[in-house]
Amino acid sequence: MRLGGAAVRRIWTVELHPRAGVPSLVCTQCTARTPACGGVSARSAALAHLACHAQADALPGHLRTCQCQAQGCRWHPRHRGCAGPVRLALTQGRGGRAWRLADTCTACAAATSHTAVVPDTQLGSPRSPAPSAARGPRRPGAEERLRVGEMLTYLAAALPQFTSAAARLLAVQCALRTDACGRARLPAGLLRSMRLSGRREIWEELAHGAWLQYPDLRSTPVEVRLLDATALDQAPGRPARCRAADWALRPVPLFLPATSPPALRLIALVLAAYYTSDRVARRLDMEVLTRLSGHSRQQTAELLDRLVAVRALAAWRQDRDTDEVLWELLAPQHMDET
Ligand SMILES: [Zn+2]
Ligand SMILES: [Zn+2]
Ligand SMILES: [Zn+2]
Repeated sequence: MRLGGAAVRRIWTVELHPRAGVPSLVCTQCTARTPACGGVSARSAALAHLACHAQADALPGHLRTCQCQAQGCRWHPRHRGCAGPVRLALTQGRGGRAWRLADTCTACAAATSHTAVVPDTQLGSPRSPAPSAARGPRRPGAEERLRVGEMLTYLAAALPQFTSAAARLLAVQCALRTDACGRARLPAGLLRSMRLSGRREIWEELAHGAWLQYPDLRSTPVEVRLLDATALDQAPGRPARCRAADWALRPVPLFLPATSPPALRLIALVLAAYYTSDRVARRLDMEVLTRLSGHSRQQTAELLDRLVAVRALAAWRQDRDTDEVLWELLAPQHMDET
């Protein structure tokens, strides 16, 4: 599929069309029609179809390029360059009436609203080599961080906007621990350690958004079934994702006690997931930070102040020109890597 050395276009879209009262997803590539209702089921149906195209047009990882950049980065505000591995990203457009699947780098995917990185599914293209294989010795925590960052990006698009911080923290655990059929078992100890035991209202929140089926909370472990096909059939395998889920419980270098309020734990998790020791290190778009933690800008600023007050951060400030949050750790030197 390479044309005269030009990069291959890897963008596929479906549009929601009403048809005799039953809305259907119409593919702009093959004109297939798939019946669809709204919300999660439209997302699942769109992804299922678009993933078939991605699979049919499979391309080795090293030939995949950021399609957002190829379009002049018009899908998101501001552009500071592509970064991170290229993955399939699913974007909801026109208020849920169009869906786009495209090869997108981590930086562009994070900057684009209503976009979820589709965890390299088996439905999708051939897997790119694991970061450890590509970059030499494994840096402890680096893959877990990447995985959790992708999951937070996915959840920001998949969950209703006003989903609480506690529900988002729980969703991270469910989505990372799920098997290929969308089932996850959460031991009682895990929920206790997160201070989420018996919190029915949090499960109700996630079930209300049709993201999971309301589980029987009397059973131990609690058995969860996810309803969003985007979260199913993920690569890497479950052991690697469970390691990421464990990391998310103690996200170095911003680990807060489990007794801290969920909103504070969530924003610390987002910062830790985007933490690197290189020069882009402690900078994150305010827009990305607010979207991934599900807060307003003002709430985000207050939570960052609280992170300073509890000495998780030494300081933070907002760069008004670039609209970035710049933050400093108290003692980065002794903190774990990357
Ligand atoms: Zn099609
Ligand atoms: Zn871009
Ligand atoms: Zn890019």
